[in-house]
Order: sequence, then structure tokens, then C-alpha cells
Amino acid sequence: MKNILLAGGAGYIGSHTAVELLESGYDVIIADNYSNSCPEAIKRVEEITGKSVKAYEVDIKDTAKLEKIFMENDIDAVIHFAGLKAVGESTQKPILYYRNNIDTTLSLLECMKKYNVNNIIFSSSATVYGEENPVPYTEEMNRGTCTNPYGWTKVMMEQILEDAAKADDKLSVVLLRYFNPIGAHESGRIGEDPQGIPNNLMPYVSQVAVGRREQLTIFGNDYDTPDGTCRRDYIHVVDLAKGHVKAIEYVLENDGVEVFNLGTGTPYSVTEIVSTFEKVNDIKVNHVYGARRAGDLPESYANADKALSVLGWKTEKNLADMCRDTWNWQKNNPNGYKN
Ligand code: NAD
Ligand code: UDP
Repeated sequence: MKNILLAGGAGYIGSHTAVELLESGYDVIIADNYSNSCPEAIKRVEEITGKSVKAYEVDIKDTAKLEKIFMENDIDAVIHFAGLKAVGESTQKPILYYRNNIDTTLSLLECMKKYNVNNIIFSSSATVYGEENPVPYTEEMNRGTCTNPYGWTKVMMEQILEDAAKADDKLSVVLLRYFNPIGAHESGRIGEDPQGIPNNLMPYVSQVAVGRREQLTIFGNDYDTPDGTCRRDYIHVVDLAKGHVKAIEYVLENDGVEVFNLGTGTPYSVTEIVSTFEKVNDIKVNHVYGARRAGDLPESYANADKALSVLGWKTEKNLADMCRDTWNWQKNNPNGYKN
């Protein structure tokens, strides 16, 4: 049995990945400081899978405390989800973002080196393609210019991991560039539970639908896109989680650095998201059109061919599934995990 350490594994993507790993026969250890999550998510992972998860409450920046986990467990691979991810907040608190996101990465790499753990998967983002690259994004494109500190932390962490692998033949690194994860596990027991006002589109839509927010503002309808609103590559979080299982198989068997886009390859506009959510769930989402949000690109979507050819992974769920499963989670947990 292989032990996989999920750093930041109590969060939205980490909890869904924990379910898929457990159901594929891996043992899962979670390290999280619960700064944007809660232990209840781990309990629900155990409830869904009927398997137990070893959990540590730890700030991953704290190398000495993190080391205890490496001492106590024979870890085969690390998946590094731990990070702050609110784009807007990162422009207000850049130091916090650089400190947290980069130091968690360095602490993990230091412990891995000391305890001879040679496999790491990193949660990167489509944001690293920056402003210059044309869509659809392919993995061999250069990283571009980001519009905010959050994006720069991802660029820097990719660089750090590449440099670490260059200096150490044994190290195997997989950089997963996520597009826009939405949806929830079909059980409705785990899902995205943002603190405060959601920054991202889908949790905002579902909180309007459930009555927690009055209306959605669609940021800009004067873009050079088919309906004037921005287009993104939305991916069901369970498809994304399954991509991590494939990436674990890959990272355990290979050396060096490999980059994969995890997206569907098909963009949808903000208006299409709202109308599909309304149709699939037979519920109204009050919305108005407002000004553009600073830093938003008109379009972002993947060429997802490499993940299919190398990992044998592709998405299986469509936009209707994403909207249905988001609503199933939201209506059963109107206040997230704080029920
Ligand atoms: P999330 O906030 O739900 O999960 C991140 C987890 O990391 C949380 O449980 C948080 O408590 C934990 N964490 C943060 N700093 C920590 C620290 N110093 N020590 C210990 N735990 C810490 O976010 P998510 O949506 O699950 O995203 C996971 C990763 O994927 C992040 O790195 C994020 O940047 C990246 N990503 C997310 C998206 C997205 O849209 N959700 C898109 C691209 C990339
Ligand atoms: N968006 C919006 N209203 C909101 C939140 C987001 O119109 O309240 C739009 C945003 O401008 C972007 C799309 O929805 O075009 C996806 O935004 P999100 O923040 O979810 O993802 P990202 O910008 O990181 O792709």
C-alpha cells in the first residue's frame, strides 16, 4: 500500500482527491492548518469511502513540525495543495501570499530531501500562461506575465520545483495546471466552502441560488467573445481529482519534471454558466451586468491532449453535471460545513 501525503488536503480539491485516492487503494495522510478548511471535510471523506485518513493539524511552513509527519510515516509521494488562492486578496496582501505559498513549498522539499521522499505533484494553475500566450494553452508554451501576486507565486513555485529536480536526479515532479474547478462529489457531502464573500464564479452563483447573496454581478459583457462575457475552461472537481490519481501513478514511475494541463478543452462563458445552472436545477439566479474585473483575461482554456496521451486521462463530466453537483452540495449544505 502506498502512502500519499496531501498537504492542504482538507481543502476543496484536496478532499475530492483524497476520496479518489482512497477508492483507488492508496493510503492518505492529510496535513492542513485549516486556514481555509475544517476537519469536518476529512470526516466526510472517511464517511464517503469507509476508510480512515490520518490527519495532522500543522502549518506546513513550520518545517520542524512538518518533519514529524515524515518521521512517523513512510511517505511515497506528496501532493502539494496547500496555498492561499484568492487573487484579489493577493494584491492586497502580497507578502502573506509569497510567504505562505513559497515557504510551504520549500518546507515540503526540505523534508522530502531529508526523508528520501522523491515524488511530488504540485497544484499549479492556468494562470501561469499569463497575458501573452494565445488560447488554447499547451504545456510547452513559456510561462507568461501574471496580473497578480497569486499567479506569480505559482510561477515561482514551478521554477523552484524545476530547479530542485535539476539538482536531484531522483526527484520526480509533476506540475498540474488546473483550469477552473467547479462542482462537488455526487454524494453532496463534500464541496467548495469559501469563507466570506466568494471570489469565484460558481460558489457565488450557488450562494445566490440558495439565498445567501442577493445577486450575481457578471463582470463585463463587452469582451471580444461570442456573447461578450469571459470564457473559461470549467472542469468538474471529481474529474480533476481523478487526474491526480493518474498523476500519482505517473510520478511514482518516472523521474524529472512533467507538466500537464487539467482541463476539458472547451470554454464556456459566464452567461452560459448562469443559464445552464438555472436550467439544470430549475432555479433562478438573479444577476446583473457590471464593470470588468481588473486582471481578467477574456478567454482561458486548455489544450488537454497531453494528459490524454501520456496519463490516459480525460474529463468525463459535462457542464450540466458540474451545475447539478454544485447545487446538490449547496442546497444540502447551505452554510457549507457549518451546518
Ligand atoms: P483550498 O483553500 O480549499 O485548499 C487549500 C488548503 O490548504 C486549505 O485546506 C488550507 O487550509 C490549506 N493551507 C493553506 N496554507 C496552509 C499552510 N501554510 N499550512 C497548512 N495548510 C495550509 O483551495 P483549493 O481550491 O482546494 O486549491 C488547492 C490548490 O490548488 C491551491 O494551491 C490552489 O492555489 C490551487 N488551484 C486552485 C484552483 C481553484 O480554482 N480552486 C485553480 C488553480 C489552482
Ligand atoms: N465572474 C463574474 N462574477 C463573479 C465572479 C466571477 O462575472 O462574481 C467571472 C469572472 O470575471 C471570470 C469568470 O467569472 O470571467 C471566472 O471567474 P473565477 O474568479 O471563478 O475564475 P478565474 O478568474 O480565476 O478564471
